[in-house]
Amino acid sequence: MRRIGAMMIAAAAAVAGLTACGGDSSGGDDKFVVGIKIDQPGLGQKQPDGSFKGFDVDVARYIAKELGYADDKLEFKEAQSANRESFIQQGQVDIVIATYSITDDRKKKVGFAGPYLVTGQDILTRADDTSINNVEDLKGKKVCGAQGSSSPKRLADKFGAEWKSQFLTEQQGYGACLPLLENKQVDAISTDATILAGFATQKPGKFRLVGQPFSEEKYGVGVKLDDKDTREKINKALEKMFQDGSWKKAVDANFGEFGKFFTTPPTVERY
Ligand code: GLU
Repeated sequence: MRRIGAMMIAAAAAVAGLTACGGDSSGGDDKFVVGIKIDQPGLGQKQPDGSFKGFDVDVARYIAKELGYADDKLEFKEAQSANRESFIQQGQVDIVIATYSITDDRKKKVGFAGPYLVTGQDILTRADDTSINNVEDLKGKKVCGAQGSSSPKRLADKFGAEWKSQFLTEQQGYGACLPLLENKQVDAISTDATILAGFATQKPGKFRLVGQPFSEEKYGVGVKLDDKDTREKINKALEKMFQDGSWKKAVDANFGEFGKFFTTPPTVERY
């Protein structure tokens, strides 16, 4: 973490009347801070003991190690879909690993290493709802998505502004969509299949993953826009993770049954 970033966090924490977490006050600048999701089982989930678990977490650990940071120098910071760009731009984190799709729009603001995983936008319904079987079926349905996420935007672009105001609910994170689906306040959650599979696995029998993906989501590691050096170091770390079996191990450890859809790692794209 660069000194300026640490100072900004300290200042922000002071303003908010909070204490900086993770003992930032002493030598916070030698930490490697990774923005991560906290409410996505299998990808990035905060555990009751405060630790983090998931595929993105394993990717972060591997990268940190390859970049020369000991375990106790790695710090996770909760990121939401909507603040990933600003976290990177303002130096609140060193990198973001948070189901972060590489898109042309985002490439104008941040740099991306990777991809390290490729998935697609899909749909989660209640288990007993058989009326939704593909994206077209969402046209007359209430859908939940996360603010700042590319998933609700894709639907709004497809169905238009009227649909958006009538049928789309946006929450801070996908975890917050889940109770809305259970309570029938919405009919579906639509985002990456990886995220939805994690929810379905966590509550067996409650939900149905439709399984008709309608986009290609390439997960990248977000870095500062012109930090080509860090980007290349991370690309090399990812290639090593792909080759030495650690990637597959992380897939199997975190995705369970769903891991069978991820047999081979993607190819890193140097742009
Ligand atoms: N991968 C998509 C995105 O980056 C959806 C998941 C998310 O918002 O984290 O927007």
